[in-house]
Amino acid sequence: MNRGDILELLRGGDKQLFARAAAARDAAIGPAIYLRGLIEYSNICSKDCLYCGIRKSSISGKYTLESKQILRAVKYAINNNYGSIVLQGGENYAPAHIDKIEHIVREISKTGLGITLSLGEQSPETYRRWFEAGASRYLLRIEASDRALYEKIHPYDDSYDRRLKALRDLREAGYQVGTGVMIGVPFQTVENLANDLIFMREMDIDMCGMGPYIVAENTPLAAYSALLEPEEMRLEMTLRMIAILRLMMPDINIAATTALQAIDPDGRLRAIDAGANVVMPNLTPTDAKKAYTLYKNKPMELDMRILERNVQYGERGDSAHFSARKSSCGSENNL
Ligand code: SAH
Ligand code: SF4
Repeated sequence: MNRGDILELLRGGDKQLFARAAAARDAAIGPAIYLRGLIEYSNICSKDCLYCGIRKSSISGKYTLESKQILRAVKYAINNNYGSIVLQGGENYAPAHIDKIEHIVREISKTGLGITLSLGEQSPETYRRWFEAGASRYLLRIEASDRALYEKIHPYDDSYDRRLKALRDLREAGYQVGTGVMIGVPFQTVENLANDLIFMREMDIDMCGMGPYIVAENTPLAAYSALLEPEEMRLEMTLRMIAILRLMMPDINIAATTALQAIDPDGRLRAIDAGANVVMPNLTPTDAKKAYTLYKNKPMELDMRILERNVQYGERGDSAHFSARKSSCGSENNL
């Protein structure tokens, strides 16, 4: 698929796009849906991304889960036969934080659950330590693959190059690497989105999480809300992005993200019908879940209809793309 083909699909040129993408998923990796229990570890963050409700400058109450709260959520995941958990939180470089994550990952890995981390940019050494402790997947969205757009929403020195380096370091450390973008950010064009998909193919990613941009109150980007497409259009574009990526990379894991359900109660189900194969039910304790306000109207509950789909209980659901890449010796990748 070339850029022109992608642009045509993004503009709605194929009414069968979602059905074709779901069929491509079924043919490549089957209709299985995998669950990851999401644990929102902490809303303390060293970065000040202009769109994010838990950015460094946000004044809302800060929290960090205690180990025993995390282990309680892990127990829930085990009792409910989930195969994996995701530990997500703000970017924090404090040695005590890095040690604590290493320790907790080691504890969780004893249970046999698959562990995904999403804790931002860290040093190669930290990535290695967490991997050796038992984490096998890492989510770090590129957010916007266009350098100028990236720098607009992350106005720090060298930020784009650091992001790219972190993605390479993760691959180097041995993780299944997931990335993704927000869709419908002010100043983003449909050409940007086409290039985002090409970026993900060129990076040969194993997993992807993409969601619509949703305004977070009291953030600098909220001032540009007049530039936004309507929410329903941002949702539709996200579904198209998921479907096109599924056609481009049939055997990767693609998440039906929570932000989709913030716009439409059916959002995550619609993503599954457009080719997604991973859902992350939120297992964070309630008070913390309320304080982890990346954006407004964050859904607090999973749409239970998802559990009536082909959910594979007790399976880790590793990226088939990763396994294929690992077993094809001598294959090149561009990360
Ligand atoms: N700090 C880590 C993980 C937590 S943020 C990191 O940044 O990687 C997880 C994701 O939330 C980010 O990648 C971003 O794409 C998304 N996010 C943040 N603010 C958002 C908003 N206003 N609307 C939609 N998604 C948002
Ligand atoms: Fe921090 Fe992640 Fe939010 Fe950026 S998106 S401010 S790194 S939590």
